Amino acid sequence: RRDKAETYLARPAMTKAGTAVRVQVNIADLSDVDGIDIATCDGVGLMRTEFLFGKTLPDEETQYRAYRKVLEWAGEKPVTIRTVDAGGDKPVPGLTVEEANPFLGLRGIRLSLARPEILRVQIRALLRAGIHGNLKVMFPMIAVADEYARAAALFAEEQAGLAARGVAQKTPPLGIMVEVPSVAIAPEAFADVAFFSIGSNDLTQYVMAAARDNTAVAHLNSVRHPAVLRLIASVVAFGREQRIPVSLCGDAGGDPASIPGLLEAGLRDLSVAPAQLAMAKAAIADVTV
Ligand code: PEP
Ligand code: MG
Repeated sequence: RRDKAETYLARPAMTKAGTAVRVQVNIADLSDVDGIDIATCDGVGLMRTEFLFGKTLPDEETQYRAYRKVLEWAGEKPVTIRTVDAGGDKPVPGLTVEEANPFLGLRGIRLSLARPEILRVQIRALLRAGIHGNLKVMFPMIAVADEYARAAALFAEEQAGLAARGVAQKTPPLGIMVEVPSVAIAPEAFADVAFFSIGSNDLTQYVMAAARDNTAVAHLNSVRHPAVLRLIASVVAFGREQRIPVSLCGDAGGDPASIPGLLEAGLRDLSVAPAQLAMAKAAIADVTV
């Protein structure tokens, strides 16, 4: 199957019925882009930035250089960079806190808004990198509209600060991850965001109440459960109605067993791990929807 899959790499993804599907890649480290031919994908649907937050918090210059590298590599294709998603399954020394329920605690945008001085550094680096390509930025773990409003306000403040100093910059479209059930169930509070990116890893664990990192409940943690697929379909429908682009960047997007259900739910835009790119395109070509 893998040999056959390689032949799909070079072509744009399309179902058996001829429906085009955008397939982007998820980047979790700078070295990831070295192994990918940009011609084989439609851009970066998710750049996780946690790798930059190792032992010490990265300064603005370090972040700027990392974002610029990926943007220049991608050329005109879009690169969606996510602000740091620390906490939960992604502890960051000096940033995350000890909690009894880390998946339900201070993680993602909650932590970033609790430590705005750290988010502001990342925002400045993103604004400056924005002139080097087709940048979009999204926020992780959004649960209520106020979090998006506060994060967007920080972008506006930093934009004004850079402008006052005459620093070259560009404000990217701002979107949100849809990975907390409150957003998927009541997306109407987010009609002003530029795009939605469904995080099926977290959305599935929260809908099924089955942790993504616990093999004892892995049988319950399935994006193919009708509850999860129905929720995804309703987000896609809301996006169509409001003309807000909806994509999916969870691991399910690269899973051949899950792809038919995701396309049936209406998704036409997936972002997958680099190792899954060929397999995902081959699986899409088998789908008849
Ligand atoms: C997700 O939750 O599906 C997602 C893409 O984000 P992460 O796996 O980094 O939490
Ligand atoms: Mg997530």
